[in-house]
Amino acid sequence: MIEFKDVSKVYPNGTRGLSHVNLQIEQGEFVAVIGLSGAGKSTLIRTINRMIDLTEGQVIVDDVDVMTLKGRSLRRFRRKIGMIFQSFNLVTRSTALKNVLTSMVPDMNFFSVLFGLFTKQQKLKALTALDKVGILDKAYTRCDQLSGGQQQRVALARTLNQDPSIILADEPVAALDPVMAHQVMGDFKRINQEMGITILINIHHVDLALDYASRVVGIRAGEIVYDGPASEVTQDVLTAIYGENPVPHSGDESAKQGGARDGAAKEDGRD
Ligand code: ADP
Repeated sequence: MIEFKDVSKVYPNGTRGLSHVNLQIEQGEFVAVIGLSGAGKSTLIRTINRMIDLTEGQVIVDDVDVMTLKGRSLRRFRRKIGMIFQSFNLVTRSTALKNVLTSMVPDMNFFSVLFGLFTKQQKLKALTALDKVGILDKAYTRCDQLSGGQQQRVALARTLNQDPSIILADEPVAALDPVMAHQVMGDFKRINQEMGITILINIHHVDLALDYASRVVGIRAGEIVYDGPASEVTQDVLTAIYGENPVPHSGDESAKQGGARDGAAKEDGRD
């Protein structure tokens, strides 16, 4: 279970990222976090694996207060939480299989890593992960030869190879065209249903959130303004989340990243 207890985040420059957030997510849920650019979606997701430190409150993951973790215990904790980003973060000159195998490196000895000595079992596991996201046939293709959607699937397979209990995805389909975005969202849904992995996706496009997630958390200026079933998101709910701004849909020009924003301009370095 992931639990936020009265969580606030104020960045060093005084910008408030989150304000008194209370939230409980059970194991196996598929939650989409929606809101305007700058609303606090990324901040919310990144506090779970401690990419961002809290200013106040507690984030508790499976009975562990994440702010108490440091060093090796923090690294071990992060291994069971997969993280997917908008930019796929792959080694594009390497094959899909090699990229998936890199998730095993932290558990390997120095010489095996140096010479890329992966066992047959490790390779089979990595190939199984590629199969789960439907790109087994691309295992030996260099990632720079793959489409954006296929590259995001490689990133997803790499995460699955870590045997995560939670996957956090920060705008995973924002760089993809609508057809690919639907395919990758379908992968997330299948993984959630078949493997019981908790999935928390921060997503800009409302139609994708409503089509695939079962629960929606709407955030505005760092506060949760809706938390409920995707099927109960009405026009009034969308107005509470987006105000007078256009509601972003996939394939919609006004929905492109960097559109309407709440709060101050996003800055480069995150703490
Ligand atoms: P979203 O993911 O919804 O676009 P963010 O969580 O990235 O929103 O940002 C929430 C607020 O925090 C915004 O006002 C943003 O400008 C601010 N913010 C995010 N990261 C930083 C940072 N490293 N330093 C200062 N302010 C930040």
